[in-house]
Amino acid sequence: MADESYDVIVIGSGPGGLSTATLLQKRGVKCLLIEKNNLLGGKMISIDKDGYAYDLFPHGQVPMRGSAFEPIFEELGVFDEFVPALEPDDPRDVITLLYRRSDRKEYNRVTQGQAMADPGPFFELWDLEKEQQEAVVKIMAEMSLMSDDEIGKLDGITMDEWLAERDVPGPLYNYLGFHANASLAEPIDLVAASEQIVIMKQMMLQGGGGQYKGGFGGLTKVMAREFEKNGGTLIRNCKVDKINIEDGAVTGVATPEGTFRAPVVVSSAGIQPTILKLCGEEHFDKTYANYIKGLVPGWAFTSVRYFLDKTVMDTAMYVMYSDESWLNTERFDKMKNGEIPDEVILFMVNHNFYDENAAPPGKQVLVSGTVCSSNPEAKEIEGLWKRMDEQMQEFFPEIWQACERREYNGPKDIADLTRDSVIEGQGGECVGLAQIVGQCGSMKPDSKAPINGLYIAGADAGAKGMGTHQSALSGTAVARMVQQYLRGRAKMR
Ligand SMILES: Cc1cc2nc3c(=O)[nH]c(=O)nc-3n(C[C@H](O)[C@H](O)[C@H](O)COP(=O)(O)OP(=O)(O)OC[C@H]3O[C@@H](n4cnc5c(N)ncnc54)[C@H](O)[C@@H]3O)c2cc1C
Repeated sequence: MADESYDVIVIGSGPGGLSTATLLQKRGVKCLLIEKNNLLGGKMISIDKDGYAYDLFPHGQVPMRGSAFEPIFEELGVFDEFVPALEPDDPRDVITLLYRRSDRKEYNRVTQGQAMADPGPFFELWDLEKEQQEAVVKIMAEMSLMSDDEIGKLDGITMDEWLAERDVPGPLYNYLGFHANASLAEPIDLVAASEQIVIMKQMMLQGGGGQYKGGFGGLTKVMAREFEKNGGTLIRNCKVDKINIEDGAVTGVATPEGTFRAPVVVSSAGIQPTILKLCGEEHFDKTYANYIKGLVPGWAFTSVRYFLDKTVMDTAMYVMYSDESWLNTERFDKMKNGEIPDEVILFMVNHNFYDENAAPPGKQVLVSGTVCSSNPEAKEIEGLWKRMDEQMQEFFPEIWQACERREYNGPKDIADLTRDSVIEGQGGECVGLAQIVGQCGSMKPDSKAPINGLYIAGADAGAKGMGTHQSALSGTAVARMVQQYLRGRAKMR
């Protein structure tokens, strides 16, 4: 197969790379998609094993209506296969929330419909006085009514700074601190207000926490099938070693299976691994190489999967936090230095709620996560697993007792599965680059790298919002940029 030529080579089959490859191939551009793993999907990988079907990591889609995958499925002509596992107006209790105020010993527990659809359960959860309820509604309304332009003006300030200018009831501030961790894997004192508000607005107006039939991997399967059906070439189990560059332009890639040639290479292997390792910093001017080295990776999520011998969970998501358990920078630094907190946040997904065949009859699988550092060598991970298990035993004894088997996962597994660690502390990122001030919106790295024919797709470049959604948005935008570049090249010949 070596020495074949393509119009475009795409590295990686996560939502970023797969969106680019599938759309380009559908539009008649001859693509080669190379994935280092056997299973496709990157971080949104779904597993189908021993009668269980689940996402490897706890995933929820934001937004549910108007996700970036919708237009892709439409263009591929397979919109009937875009099947959210939960309708935005599903009347069932979907989320179980547990929250403890710092002035209380006990956790409050409420169940509610879909995320943010009704503030009533939050008021109950937070035990709010009437005046505080009004203040909460005012801030939520402000976020949901902001235009894209207004939100875009908040790239340069943190969510913490934005809230400091408002009268924010403590429980709302603490919820947003938790939300920054759970939805963005960031601390509220660094996350760009624009990124967090975009996601909050989407959750309120377009629904949040959705899933797909067959997990997120169901989307991957359809897109990969269409890619091949439309004539695309897919190589699995093949790790790209090098992006070949000659005279300031890409010429293809080198892999253990040989060299493949193309005038365009789109990489979703992460901007830092792509520039610093696959290309090599010697191909870029010092300013750009230093800029790439200085980019801050996002935090990671460490996860535990609980395989249960009976059906014990009745809602789709379990969310647990207290005023003390969500992490700002100060608390995170303490954790990194070995002080495992007494309580951790938990974000848990029950796949059986979405799909009754997600486990063998009468059994269940729950995927649970909490934030941690993206450093594959992070020291806090085992302590966090222990704390997660202790919380399960204490707060969900019925789940703990039903547990047949557990699987533990941390940033090292995420790095091994998806992106190489090329600078210290980086590799296990949950989303991608940190969505913090200086790296978002107008300051987000450009998908077009300063080498002719080189593009970055996925969570690190070009888009905003929650992980899978922004990766698919970025992939869609890169497909357009690549077509334009190829058209320009053709005209010049
Ligand atoms: C624990 C966890 C929880 C998450 N929760 C959510 C959530 O609730 N909602 C949400 O929307 N997002 C969530 N995300 C984030 C989301 O999964 C990612 O942001 C998204 O998958 C990033 O997409 P990507 O295409 O940029 O990169 P990836 O998904 O990382 O895909 C990159 C692909 O490139 C391949 N690759 C890398 N290097 C090479 C190479 N040299 N050669 C060949 N192939 C290569 C990798 O194997 C991988 O398949 C979560 C992620 C994790 C880890």
